[in-house]
Amino acid sequence: MDTTVFSTVESEVRTYSRGWPTVFAQAKGAVQTSEDGTEYLDFFSGAGALNYGHNHPKLQAALVDYISSDAPVHSLDMMTPAKRDFLQTFNDLILQPRGLDYKVMFPGPTGTNTVEAALKLARKVTGRQHILSFTNAFHGMTLGALSVTGNSMKRRGAGIPLTNSSKIPYDDYLGGVTTDFLWLERVLEDSGSGVDKPAAIIVETVQGEGGVRAARAEWLKGLSELCAKHEILLIVDDVQAGCGRTGTFFSFEEVGFTPDIVCVSKSISGYGLPMALTLFRPELDVWSPGEHNGTFRGNNPAFITATATLKEFWADDSFQKGQLAEAIATVHGALEQIAGSMEGATVRGRGLLAGLHFEDIEVAGKVAAESFRNGLLVETSGPDDEVLKLMPALTTPKAELERGMGIIAAAVAEVTGTDIAYRAGNGDLAGAA
Ligand SMILES: *Cc1c(COP(=O)(O)O)cnc(C)c1O
Repeated sequence: MDTTVFSTVESEVRTYSRGWPTVFAQAKGAVQTSEDGTEYLDFFSGAGALNYGHNHPKLQAALVDYISSDAPVHSLDMMTPAKRDFLQTFNDLILQPRGLDYKVMFPGPTGTNTVEAALKLARKVTGRQHILSFTNAFHGMTLGALSVTGNSMKRRGAGIPLTNSSKIPYDDYLGGVTTDFLWLERVLEDSGSGVDKPAAIIVETVQGEGGVRAARAEWLKGLSELCAKHEILLIVDDVQAGCGRTGTFFSFEEVGFTPDIVCVSKSISGYGLPMALTLFRPELDVWSPGEHNGTFRGNNPAFITATATLKEFWADDSFQKGQLAEAIATVHGALEQIAGSMEGATVRGRGLLAGLHFEDIEVAGKVAAESFRNGLLVETSGPDDEVLKLMPALTTPKAELERGMGIIAAAVAEVTGTDIAYRAGNGDLAGAA
């Protein structure tokens, strides 16, 4: 495999290609194959952009049909049949059944684009500048999104002060020693606090990049009540946790609150094509035509695969209650077994945004590297890369999930020298040290 051009021509900024130094030539379902024919089971799923696996046959067929029909590919925000079908299907299958009355905005096609649109809209609606976000948050790489992101290395990359935002503690940041929102509640009620009233608070229900931390439902509910009481807009960044990743289409569905603004991207096209949405209450739709713009807001091939995805997986609750619920149970069952058989390991996350936290911050990186050697793509997350982050496709067959969990169990055993008891559902003992 010739990899010369990647190190001579491509920038030093490249990252995933360093941890997984192979050339991927084929990808189908849960498996990626390198040029030399080595197969890798994919527990990464494009950081959540491939929730339905690689090249799903029905989505692929819809895309190929569309492209060969000479229908428009690029259309800015002009009207096309592909966009009409997407808006109608999204409204009928996702918004209406969940009682969500949102306007749909197409910002640029990436996660950071929808976050920028959300922040801009919140400031415009409220006339306030300040935004609050949480410790260890990740919202993207452009300046506005970086200003609400936690990671110090990524923040430094901005090269200028990141202003008009402050960080507040995420759920469990203070380990329960302080009542949730005590400080926030006080400063918002105290006109002498010196803390400017924010336009919005932006939150991930599960922090993907920040260490697979899942907020408790009651904490999120408390946050939404506090926002409502003080007329602060609540933005949920569902870029990674949305589109089924946590077990429901939106990550906040079972928490029982309705955000004012929702950011969606990564898996909304269902196929790995760039696409993003910013959803908001109709009263917040104060944009003037063209006030927020972008060349790639009408990516018709993405509308086609997005519509096909919604019809295939979200037309009723059979996928959510069947295959998805079963996949979640398989992964969490295995994680509990692994964490239960060693000191200093805990299970993190929700649904198929799942993690294994190790007290020894070296372990997760070594486990990811060992897993790669054994044919599994799995990444790390958190400020010190101290969490093994598992994001298999929601459609991964049970046997493949168990095979992957076996590779992880064996890698943990190898790296830490502990006996890991992991028994896959089929009774095979996999990954014992
Ligand atoms: C990935 C991600 C983003 C940024 O998306 P990009 O497409 O990389 O710009 C924003 N928020 C969250 C929660 C993410 O996981």
